[in-house]
Amino acid sequence: MRRHRQHAVYHSILPVLHEPGCPFCRLLREFQADRLQRHGEGELHHLCNFHVWGLAAAQEAPVAARIFMRLVDEAAPLSNGSAACDVCTEILQEEELRIRELISCLQRAEATHWFRSNLTLCIPHGLKLRRKLPAVLIPRVDSAIESYRQQLTADLEHLREELMPKSERVGWGAVGRAAEFLVSQRGLRP
Ligand SMILES: [Zn+2]
Ligand SMILES: [Zn+2]
Repeated sequence: MRRHRQHAVYHSILPVLHEPGCPFCRLLREFQADRLQRHGEGELHHLCNFHVWGLAAAQEAPVAARIFMRLVDEAAPLSNGSAACDVCTEILQEEELRIRELISCLQRAEATHWFRSNLTLCIPHGLKLRRKLPAVLIPRVDSAIESYRQQLTADLEHLREELMPKSERVGWGAVGRAAEFLVSQRGLRP
């Protein structure tokens, strides 16, 4: 998470369907970055490990200092199972909202085009969407996940054979895409 970056805050899942990769991961990654930057000082009470560090990286230092001072003053500032992380909770609500939005827009041109020719989903979002879709579209999701899995496997095999120590970061793209495919983007799942 880079400080001071302008985030593309999406207000709908539809424009994100044109972008590469899992559209839910892309939308939620920007949502998460925006929330970490914009949270007011009195709004956060519980944070998980990931979002404590995310806030430290994303916020202006004086704002982060004031938020952390309040958190360390509170009795149980860290999310530990009994109290959910405030940012994780917001991300989960946004994720459910966007899945419902897509389900309600299945007849729209953007959605039909995506299903027909550009369907890419990480495994967690594929499984979540699959549970809500009409039965006729489920095989399409399954085959998209399977073909993305095969493509990633080929990219990773290629990396494993090609990479020399001097260029070890060159292959980060495929490794990062594989990580997203398996578990969604960083911080989006508790
Ligand atoms: Zn995803
Ligand atoms: Zn969290």
